[in-house]
Amino acid sequence: MDHNVILEALKEAVGPDQVQVGSAIDPRYLSDWFVPIERGAPLALVRPGTTRDVSDLLRVCHANRLPVVPQGGLTGLSGGATPLDQSVLLSLERMTGIEELDPAAATMTARAGTPLQTIQEAARAAGFFFPLDLGARGSCQIGGNAATNAGGNRVIRFGMMRELVLGLEAVLADGTVITSLNKMLKNNAGYDLKHLFIGSEGTLGVITRVVLRLHPEPKSVCTALCSVTDYENAVALLRHAKQGMGGALSAFEMMWPDFYELVTRKVPGITPPIRYGYGGYVLIEALGSDQTPDQARFENMLQAALEQGLIEDAVIAQSRGESNALWRVRDASGEITQLLDLQAKFDISIPTNDIGRFVDACRTAVKSRWPNSQSVSFGHIGDSNVHFNVHVGAENGEPQDAALERMVYDMVRDWKGSISAEHGIGLLKRDYLGHSRTPEEIQLMRTLKRTLDPYGILNPGKVL
Ligand code: FAD
Ligand code: ZN
Repeated sequence: MDHNVILEALKEAVGPDQVQVGSAIDPRYLSDWFVPIERGAPLALVRPGTTRDVSDLLRVCHANRLPVVPQGGLTGLSGGATPLDQSVLLSLERMTGIEELDPAAATMTARAGTPLQTIQEAARAAGFFFPLDLGARGSCQIGGNAATNAGGNRVIRFGMMRELVLGLEAVLADGTVITSLNKMLKNNAGYDLKHLFIGSEGTLGVITRVVLRLHPEPKSVCTALCSVTDYENAVALLRHAKQGMGGALSAFEMMWPDFYELVTRKVPGITPPIRYGYGGYVLIEALGSDQTPDQARFENMLQAALEQGLIEDAVIAQSRGESNALWRVRDASGEITQLLDLQAKFDISIPTNDIGRFVDACRTAVKSRWPNSQSVSFGHIGDSNVHFNVHVGAENGEPQDAALERMVYDMVRDWKGSISAEHGIGLLKRDYLGHSRTPEEIQLMRTLKRTLDPYGILNPGKVL
């Protein structure tokens, strides 16, 4: 079929006003947060309004072997939503809204294009809590969060998206709609199909609706920033805090001195809550049900940590305002890309016990190869996840990105870690998938991909 006929078919599927063609595509769809389109140009952008529209347009693309790139809020950090040459961009942005909140089941059913922040606010308004939270909350979509299995700061207690989705609806490459809007915590009736789509970065199906698991709204927040002498003490403090706070520990965020000093010196409006000179800084948060007794237990836990020599100093927030001020230090991670002109943001998992030595080894290796480089590290160490960020610059006018990636990912392989803890594979890490997955695992992924998408139209060249 020639392109004009295909475009007419797409217009019929989603309505003529919802199709932008070629050079008329609004440029904001042409790059995602981190990766601009490299070459070529997409054929069209389509903005379906319903699951039916998604099914109709995928049927057209399937029949014509046209690549389709699902696009959520475009905040992904691995280039998964980056447009491909001659592809159809499928934006979920019109498919917003909460369809149901079921207080007895503690679930919310929402359309995939709903922004995360809207979900959080709707849960709160009904006396519930949706724990997924990340810096891109205002722009990213719940469907994008599911498609990337997003993590964030509270994984240590509530898990990643995979643990927060009970059911979903997805449309397969050929237009088949799989409606699996399960609301029950227990359901072992055959394979749990939702997990095929969660974390598959738009390569196995287009997610159109999700059933989310809600938690009770926390009534107390306890927050502290602590300094530690070294990484080993941070790990000992993690164990101590988990034991001391029972199930209430909701964040345990480690900042290495390079990160802490950079953001407290350079980001306007942030002053260092604790003086410089320690081996690490840890932000601890616990969510509970009664502020006064919870705060007492939290402070007792920290007092014991001080007496046992696990921490050197601590600033304990006495109000929500003070808690927010401590979080500002950690949340300044969103600003380091500009501050350092970063070349690479490595989102790595390494077994928790080894992270400290791994970061030291990486920093040393990068520094000895590129003496003028600068790196900063922070991470959700309770989840085995460290973010290692590097500025190298050019060498004799030559970009060093590829050599830097190879060096760090080879180390991740040797340390038996994962090249993607929470940001996904997308375009950026595809060449390194084999560093963290066996050939048999990759073969099975390919078999699944071929079965669900025989012509390979869904996000080709991403992940696999
Ligand atoms: P997009 O970027 O639009 O798409 C991401 C991938 O999902 C693409 O492969 C796309 O094709 C696919 N996709 C999107 N929607 C659908 C759908 N409905 N069906 C099928 N496939 C789809 N991530 C974390 O895990 N933890 C963090 O703490 C974190 N912090 C961040 C902070 C900032 C400031 C930013 C910019 C990003 C951060 N991220 C974080 C990255 C995170 O993965 C994304 O923010 C989010 O999950 C992606 O949602 P999105 O709607 O923007 O998806
Ligand atoms: Zn993170």
